[in-house]
Amino acid sequence: MTKTAVVIGAGLGGLSAAISLQHRGFQVTIIEKNSHSGGKLHDVQLGSAGFDFGPNTITMPHVFNNVLKQTGRKPEDYFEFVPLPRHTTNSFEDGSSFTFSSVKEDMKEELHALDPASADKYEAYRKEVEKLFRLADRHFLKRTFRSWKDFISLPLAKGLLSSRPLETMDSFHRRFFKDERIISAFNRYATYIGSSPFNSPATFGLIGHLELNDGVYYTKGGNYRIAEGLKKAAEESGVKFIYGEEVVSLTVQNGTISEAVTNREKTVPGDVFLLNGDLLSQYPRLVASEHRPSFTDKKAVSADPSVSAYVLMAASNKRHALNHHQVFFSRDPKKEFEDIFNKGEYSSDPTVYICTSSKTEPSRSPDGDNLFILVNAPPLSTEAGAHPFSKETVFEKLRRFGLDLSTSITDSMEVSPAVIEKRFNAYRGALYGLSSNKKKNTFLRPFNKASDLNNLYFAGGSTHPGGGSPMVTLSGQNVAELIVKHHLN
Ligand SMILES: Cc1cc2nc3c(=O)[nH]c(=O)nc-3n(C[C@H](O)[C@H](O)[C@H](O)COP(=O)(O)OP(=O)(O)OC[C@H]3O[C@@H](n4cnc5c(N)ncnc54)[C@H](O)[C@@H]3O)c2cc1C
Repeated sequence: MTKTAVVIGAGLGGLSAAISLQHRGFQVTIIEKNSHSGGKLHDVQLGSAGFDFGPNTITMPHVFNNVLKQTGRKPEDYFEFVPLPRHTTNSFEDGSSFTFSSVKEDMKEELHALDPASADKYEAYRKEVEKLFRLADRHFLKRTFRSWKDFISLPLAKGLLSSRPLETMDSFHRRFFKDERIISAFNRYATYIGSSPFNSPATFGLIGHLELNDGVYYTKGGNYRIAEGLKKAAEESGVKFIYGEEVVSLTVQNGTISEAVTNREKTVPGDVFLLNGDLLSQYPRLVASEHRPSFTDKKAVSADPSVSAYVLMAASNKRHALNHHQVFFSRDPKKEFEDIFNKGEYSSDPTVYICTSSKTEPSRSPDGDNLFILVNAPPLSTEAGAHPFSKETVFEKLRRFGLDLSTSITDSMEVSPAVIEKRFNAYRGALYGLSSNKKKNTFLRPFNKASDLNNLYFAGGSTHPGGGSPMVTLSGQNVAELIVKHHLN
């Protein structure tokens, strides 16, 4: 008899797992509280300007392609990636700037203009971050973790040690670069995992490999096309979707889940359940505490969330002098990270990131630029309410850099950490689940299978291998493989 799988959440992790499970013989049903697939990655339209909410920087395109390839599909029939060689311009208050490029000689020239010594060290840096990536790829990224036993294997222990778990990302970058502007630009990679470079381990220097050796990509028509493409493939293969319904509990009998219950009192039975919604907020909510002694409420609330974000999507009637990705740095990035992670406050001089995909594809916003503006925000506090933040802070900062948006914005939409929490059930508004500020969180994210239940699995940003669009997609693939191993063979 066909086995059934119920996936809670149609984020990239849920879609990726659903496609694989359906392909391998399960009948899959996805239950999604919102009306769209893709979770945090989705399309926003303001007049004629189209925006990608969520992932604007896309790396590791092969991960998305492989989800389709393994089912015999041609990825190019679903989405198409465009490389962006000179992808991110880093701008500083002293008027200087340099552009990250995946072309080695170009990158060396960019660095040389700011600091010749940094340019000389670039080759060594590239090799080192590639090494870090290969280690992670071999030992962590393609694996699932179910228990402590999985961690104690010798090859993994060796891999852990050689990936410099005790050195911080900041000190790793200082081994190669001396110029503070260059260090700030590289240190920003810590925010891709929602963390601070002063706490997160050097291992995450591997992000430099992804961006600078492998390259940054844009998806033709908008990054949300990745989610649309995966949804299309899932539907074609027979995955059933229930939109606009929220799972409010999972019924457990003798350590096995029998059904998901929605807010419309619908019950969806299944042999296997996969939680793609945020594990930290949803596992304690959906499963009564007596059925999860290994994951107590206390453990859930003690989790250290990743960074959140204040987002302003602004449609402009002008074309501005911006790169596809552009970062306007804080005068004091160290203080900014302290404000966010130690004090739990917005910085008074925040680093402002702007994605303007209309630079690459003007048709995304035919009447002017589509400015997706993001400021790192502290995760929501457990005690106080949401922190206030005003878009005036952004506008004032950008004016100092010669970018006056005040007269050109025709329409805009703000998204605060509280909205992110509510819309996606994201634990304290976190973008990437847990932070990697504590060394143990890097390697010991919550496991991919519930240890107290026979048939509950996890995929997505709050579980292994971590947040970010390629990682969660990989997590869906890894978990599907584990479920097949446990329940089909
Ligand atoms: C502003 C922002 C910027 C980002 N920038 C980047 C970037 O540049 N590059 C990058 O790679 N990544 C980026 N990310 C991170 C990336 O979006 C996420 O890591 C990834 O999309 C998360 O996918 P996921 O599968 O974990 O789940 P999610 O996208 O969180 O999806 C989970 C789904 O589960 C649903 N759900 C939750 N609980 C329930 C329930 N009880 N019942 C039914 N449905 C439920 C939610 O509605 C949601 O749709 C960004 C994120 C944000 C918010």
